[in-house]
Amino acid sequence: MTPPGQENRAGTGNGTDSGTTARARSAIVIGGGIAGPAVAMALRKAGVEATIYEAYDTTADGIGGGISIAPNGLDALGAIDADEPVRAIGTPLYGNVITNAQNVKVAELALPEELPPLHFVWRTDLYRTLHDQSGERGITTHRNKKFLTAEESPTHITAHFADGSTAQADILIGADGIRSTVRTLINAENPPPHYAGLLGFAAPLADTRTPPTGGKLHITHGKRASFGYLSQEDRSGGWFANLPHPEHLTLQEVRKTTPQEWLRTLRAAYADDDSPAVAMLDLTDPDQLLMTGPLELTPPTPTWHRGRIVLVGDSLHATSPTSGQGASLALESAVQLARCLRDHPYSEAFAAYEALRRPRVEEIIEQTDQANQTKARPETRKTDARHHSATWHLHHHIDWNSPT
Ligand SMILES: Cc1cc2nc3c(=O)[nH]c(=O)nc-3n(C[C@H](O)[C@H](O)[C@H](O)COP(=O)(O)OP(=O)(O)OC[C@H]3O[C@@H](n4cnc5c(N)ncnc54)[C@H](O)[C@@H]3O)c2cc1C
Repeated sequence: MTPPGQENRAGTGNGTDSGTTARARSAIVIGGGIAGPAVAMALRKAGVEATIYEAYDTTADGIGGGISIAPNGLDALGAIDADEPVRAIGTPLYGNVITNAQNVKVAELALPEELPPLHFVWRTDLYRTLHDQSGERGITTHRNKKFLTAEESPTHITAHFADGSTAQADILIGADGIRSTVRTLINAENPPPHYAGLLGFAAPLADTRTPPTGGKLHITHGKRASFGYLSQEDRSGGWFANLPHPEHLTLQEVRKTTPQEWLRTLRAAYADDDSPAVAMLDLTDPDQLLMTGPLELTPPTPTWHRGRIVLVGDSLHATSPTSGQGASLALESAVQLARCLRDHPYSEAFAAYEALRRPRVEEIIEQTDQANQTKARPETRKTDARHHSATWHLHHHIDWNSPT
């Protein structure tokens, strides 16, 4: 790792790139969450050396709740030969069963037969798996590297970190999540994420004491809040809750309230519903309660790239966990960006990437936004099935070998 104040050349780029007509050969990736290691692996496959710079020094163990990797996300991982390790840590999901507060089934979504199952993963496992995969492919992750700013020259870009160190490469990729510094560096007018009116909670259960859900996620749209759970053949599983909360709390503010108190609040929210919610909350060890924080989405991002800088993942298109698409879209974008950089000089590649991705991600975010508004105000719900019937977005396929 570069000592503070010294410069580090990311990847093998040697500074001979002479401008926008050159293909990028090295990349600084800011953020080592989910999109970071994915884009670094995809870039490596595309012949671009990438180095990851992550603000935190922890391994993110125990942080975050459950994430679903949809067929389109697994397809993107397949394009970079990383799908099998993710399948290995996941629980296959074949669809959703939606019930109302009276425990009446109002919808059932079965995945189209031609698609592989979704995989439910705990974020902490996904994070570890992608990092192991990127490490095995020789990609370096520097930790404790909080990105501050960057400056461009005609031949390269230099990133500046909070510890005083710097790094140089041909391009810089902002994979720094929903509170992205790179997003505002590209354009101070890129709007911040907006709050969906919901707080997220989840917990694993060693024994749900609930009949197996047959590989389907069961979701109850209750009187005050939505609750989802999964129970496997051995009755292990877990649950997640989207709790309407008009006040926008940060994750730090959520954590100021004890897990015991949140569990009480959640029990009250589900008290009038005919569902396993209260029983599962009673079974939950407060130490195992995962507070995932406010659900937020990014409005359409006017500027996706500027000069040698481009965005990927939640920094560009955060959809909130309710979409079931946040990680999958991040993985898709990571692979598509790398394909574009494989095929074009970086400025053309960034434009091609935006053209490929913008319509799709904006449509999915818009649909999620509408569904969240209903969840935040259950009294406005018209039909429970409305937001669970579409599967068009799951069919996305990336052909790595075809030119962009
Ligand atoms: C702590 C946490 C918990 C989450 N929990 C859930 C969940 O329960 N369910 C769900 O569906 N989604 C969750 N997500 C979001 C999910 O990971 C993303 O939607 C998706 O996977 C896209 O990932 P990403 O890599 O773009 O963003 P993220 O996963 O947010 O990763 C961004 C990374 O960038 C790093 N970073 C930020 N700023 C800087 C900086 N200035 N310099 C260097 N590094 C920086 C962050 O530390 C982080 O590691 C969570 C994200 C985080 C960070």
